[in-house]
Amino acid sequence: MNKVVTKFGGSSLADASQFKKVKEIILADDARRYVIPSAPGKRHGKDTKITDLLYLCHMHVETGISLEDVFKHIEERYTGIVNDLGLDLDISTYLDVVKKDIENGASKDYAASRGEYLNGIILANYLGYDFVDAKEVILFNEDGTLNSEETNKRLKDKLCKIERAVIPGFYGADEQGEIVTFSRGGSDVTGSLVAASINADLYENWTDVSGFLMADPRIVENPKTIGKITYKELRELSYMGASVLHEEAIFPVKEAGIPINIKNTNLPEDKGTIIVQDTENEKCKTITGIAGKKNFTVISIEKAMMNNELGFCRKVLSILEMNNISFENMPAGIDTVCLVIADSELKKKKDIVIEEIRRSCNPDSIVVHPNMAMIATVGKGMAKNKGVAAKVFGALAKAKINIRMIDQGSSEMNILVGIENEDFERAIKSIYNAFN
Ligand code: ASP
Repeated sequence: MNKVVTKFGGSSLADASQFKKVKEIILADDARRYVIPSAPGKRHGKDTKITDLLYLCHMHVETGISLEDVFKHIEERYTGIVNDLGLDLDISTYLDVVKKDIENGASKDYAASRGEYLNGIILANYLGYDFVDAKEVILFNEDGTLNSEETNKRLKDKLCKIERAVIPGFYGADEQGEIVTFSRGGSDVTGSLVAASINADLYENWTDVSGFLMADPRIVENPKTIGKITYKELRELSYMGASVLHEEAIFPVKEAGIPINIKNTNLPEDKGTIIVQDTENEKCKTITGIAGKKNFTVISIEKAMMNNELGFCRKVLSILEMNNISFENMPAGIDTVCLVIADSELKKKKDIVIEEIRRSCNPDSIVVHPNMAMIATVGKGMAKNKGVAAKVFGALAKAKINIRMIDQGSSEMNILVGIENEDFERAIKSIYNAFN
């Protein structure tokens, strides 16, 4: 029998009516055997996620304020779900334990993790599936990083004996049994780890959108959905700001060669986006998506005969390292090298960095371009199709947008352009329109 791991995000489990949709989805395919829930998310724009309420409870206790008022909202949400679903489950006993633990000074991670834990208990009861506590199967090292090997082993050992289970997302435990969480949105990672451990045929990630869009819908009106994308393309797009899956969710399934399908709980018939290892023998569209970020500074360093000077770039980069600054990109020419650095990294260190480069590298000039935005036009298909770059630059020229920097990685999968912050939205729209 096929094995499908399904992860449901917070909005998919925000209330009883969403739980009903989730059950229908799970029952529609017998292969959907392992289910990873998030904590209840927002029911509407002004609502608050349970996870945020739990963090707030923890903060209240830390600062000596009573958690009573906030915890009431949490209780209402969960008892509401249980009652509306008509479950024979005494969720108040579980809620009381959580409340007491937080009141008695349980850790921040413990508090946050209870959103998924309680939702997992409810969902397992509703589906008639076993409940597997993530603290038994997801192991973290002392430094807070995941112990992938042991996690994989524990998941495998546990799940080979259980045909159908609910495993709450977002958390695990360290060797001492103390709860540790992933970073926000981490249920995606749990789903990916479970899928890899049982060598699933598919990892379904159910959310409230029908897959990834080719561009940010706040900028481009009704952008097309991406039907299929490779892990690498997705990595490039999410790195450049397209908020999709949790970054760490890609690696476990990618290594195991398991595709991910992003699906919409509210429109389950929509195909969504499928993320695959490769699209080698398929006809690729020239571009897959466009994403970008604002607020970069480009430091452009020029020195005649730089190409002959051994160790020039090493010196420049060690200055960044010493100042604890990570750079985004480093396009270079024969006599020039540019450092593209996010403003949040450079902060107030710009003058120091420039002074140190001047002193130790003795360049002919250093020019600083602030207020830059970077836009990535990503697509595996561009390697095989001529004229993609011409189309990108043509579109920007037509929109009278000045390109300050160009970089195309050797993977021929990404054309990166640096433009002024103020041209950002117009640039994305014009590139999108050129290809659609
Ligand atoms: N509930 C957690 C969060 O809000 C984790 C998740 O939803 O994946 O970040």
